[in-house]
Amino acid sequence: MPSMLRKTRLFTPGPTPLLPAAQRAMAAADVHHRTAEYRALQQRVVADLKTFIGTRNDVILLASSGSGAMEAAVSNLTSPGDKVLVLSAGKFGERWRDLARAFGCQVELVTAEYGQTFPLDQVRAKLSPEVRAVYMQATESSTGCRHDVAGVAKLLRGSDALLVVDAITGLGTTHLDVDGWGIDVIIGGSQKAVMVPPGVAYLAVSERAWQRMESARNPRYYFDLRKERKVAAKGESAYTPAIPVVAGLAASLDYIREMGSGDLAAGREALVANAETMAEMTRAAAQAQRLALFAAEPCAALTAILPPSGTDSGDIIKLFRQQFGAVVANGQGEMKGRIFRIAHLGYYDYVDTMGILAALEHVLAYVARPRHVEFGLGLKAAQEVYARAVAEKQAVAVTT
Ligand SMILES: *Cc1c(COP(=O)(O)O)cnc(C)c1O
Repeated sequence: MPSMLRKTRLFTPGPTPLLPAAQRAMAAADVHHRTAEYRALQQRVVADLKTFIGTRNDVILLASSGSGAMEAAVSNLTSPGDKVLVLSAGKFGERWRDLARAFGCQVELVTAEYGQTFPLDQVRAKLSPEVRAVYMQATESSTGCRHDVAGVAKLLRGSDALLVVDAITGLGTTHLDVDGWGIDVIIGGSQKAVMVPPGVAYLAVSERAWQRMESARNPRYYFDLRKERKVAAKGESAYTPAIPVVAGLAASLDYIREMGSGDLAAGREALVANAETMAEMTRAAAQAQRLALFAAEPCAALTAILPPSGTDSGDIIKLFRQQFGAVVANGQGEMKGRIFRIAHLGYYDYVDTMGILAALEHVLAYVARPRHVEFGLGLKAAQEVYARAVAEKQAVAVTT
């Protein structure tokens, strides 16, 4: 091991690197939640999250990781015996399936292999008037695959089935027209593209979904969304909120607004475009080094890459950590050892991404002996992607 300086850096699709301004805001957040100061903070964050999500629907904050909001989207919207459709092609799709079963739903499944997405006609074939809700991911973080939320939403037009989207890594990395497409519940998490630590899950809930809650009979207590909606009108939460994380979110949303020169919706688009460029650079670099990409429809939140044949991805991850202090994600569940995942969501810039791609070439050189790795091939490909993205942006700026 070379005795060189190493900084620990997260390249995992949650938790993600923290925004320094958010860290400062969190350190200063020793306020009580039943005060005017906190109520104003929460109301501001909720208003900004609506713009960030791109919805006029109510936004609710929960003190939990993202899965808490997923549970709320099952327990609040269903009754035992309800037929629901789950679209599953990875660990997080399976979480929807398991949650719906835990709450006594009759689960219909459309599955695709890990790394793939579902053909829309398979989804159409499973839709019937009895299906009360459809649960899916916008981006499946365990595989790096993007799913066609707009396509599924279109299939549901005119039906009574609610559309519930786990966009925990989709928000801030993907173009989502929440109200235009008719997404009834969309879920995000603080430790993903919004650059703060875990502790807050947020969800936007449509009027149709609020109405469904009036008749849904599954048990709920901590994650009772109707109770949260009532107190949120005054800037409160039913229980103690994750005060520092909410304060961090306020700072992050300000930062994203600055990315859009004072326009938060434009800032969100800039954040999405940034992730798209980082993802495209990473795909180009991996392919230039003859590594195969795992996802059929790669998302911009992260890139899942297959190690060279005969190599366990765990060895690659260990080398990243030991040699470079870089925390890269292994595959989850059945994908453990078979892929490694590099994140792009949130606070990553060109230098971060070039750094991890340069480190990747060294790591490959370690694991690939006696295979020869030519340094720079991946970096050149990534630089060309970046240069093209910047040139396109300048061309747009000149014509508008
Ligand atoms: C991170 C993540 C979740 C939530 O996981 P938690 O550990 O509960 O925050 C759910 N779905 C997707 C797609 C995710 O990336």
